[in-house]
Amino acid sequence: MARDYYGILGVSREASDDEIKRAYRKLARQFHPDVNPDPEAQEKFKDINAAYEVLSDDRKRQIVDLGGDPLAPGGGGAGGPGGPGGAGPFVGFQDIMDAFFGGAAGGARGPRPRTRPGADAILRLELDLHETAFGVEAPITVDTAVLCTTCAGAGTAAGTHLATCEACGGRGEVQSVQRTFLGQVVSARPCTVCQGYGTTIPHPCPTCAGDGRVRTRRSLTVKIPAGVEDGMRIRLAQQGEVGPGGGTAGDLYVEIHERPHDVYSRKGDDLHCRVTVPMTAAALGTRLSIKTLDSEETVDVKAGTQPGSTLRLRARGVPHLRGTGRGDLYVHLDVRTPTKLDADQEKMLRDFAKTRGEEVAELTKQGGFFSRMRDAFNGHA
Ligand SMILES: [Zn+2]
Ligand SMILES: [Zn+2]
Repeated sequence: MARDYYGILGVSREASDDEIKRAYRKLARQFHPDVNPDPEAQEKFKDINAAYEVLSDDRKRQIVDLGGDPLAPGGGGAGGPGGPGGAGPFVGFQDIMDAFFGGAAGGARGPRPRTRPGADAILRLELDLHETAFGVEAPITVDTAVLCTTCAGAGTAAGTHLATCEACGGRGEVQSVQRTFLGQVVSARPCTVCQGYGTTIPHPCPTCAGDGRVRTRRSLTVKIPAGVEDGMRIRLAQQGEVGPGGGTAGDLYVEIHERPHDVYSRKGDDLHCRVTVPMTAAALGTRLSIKTLDSEETVDVKAGTQPGSTLRLRARGVPHLRGTGRGDLYVHLDVRTPTKLDADQEKMLRDFAKTRGEEVAELTKQGGFFSRMRDAFNGHA
């Protein structure tokens, strides 16, 4: 009877090559005899290797899928290692190395490219409420890396070229040998002579010293749409940092910061302001002239308006960024009580209170209402 190679690796019959490889690596790390001294682990490790040998080979896997066993004597595994137990402990030496060293050993990474994409940049832009509300074309100054025009990003002086790195032979990495429990392991590290590029610049461009880009200060105009809010970012495609070797520039983000306004506070697209009206105006009703962001409005304050009342001026707030229309302007009314009444005014107010049947206790110059009460209580009055 054929062995259940899929079961040994714990993968489905539909498993991809990648899934089989991952399952194998995981189990190999777990059951390698040098890691796991349990004799059962040794047997298990042999099975795992056998299963991987079979399932990582399309032809052998096909035999399994047809119900055969490519490792069994006469099982059709022509050319495979014969005998029970199949392959020796190291079926795919590279795969075991990969299992333990994450593919670093001898992995074909190659030299890294000199030209790489640039980073995004961010810039803070302070605007007044009027500017965020109605939009503005704001001049900005940007400090970023830009393409070196002397060498057009190549990094080499005129008429010269890159040279293959002699230290690594152009591979961008150098191999070193470590002794480990598995014997000698070859691992690769980036070449320090060429920083992993595989090439060197014998004659760097005098302008950019080989970087392919230079830092400059540029002036741009950014179009701020009406209705932007504090903290929003406007993206200017490819106005960020040019990459090393003249690589594609990243994006520039302009972050909006709205300065606090003297009169209006903003909540979304609505604006709020406070207006003080005298007590008499609140009682009798009045007409106010309100300066909005972009107009002047006349509003009626009804007779008998209470402190804390709010007037709403529709569509006098900030224009909506998306869609049409505007927020509202809320006018919060503070009712001011008169202070420092002269004798005539006081008399009129007292008479007024009397006609309304409102009891108003009189305060003395010396003490006030409560000290008079206390005096009365103590028999001084
Ligand atoms: Zn090198
Ligand atoms: Zn240059």
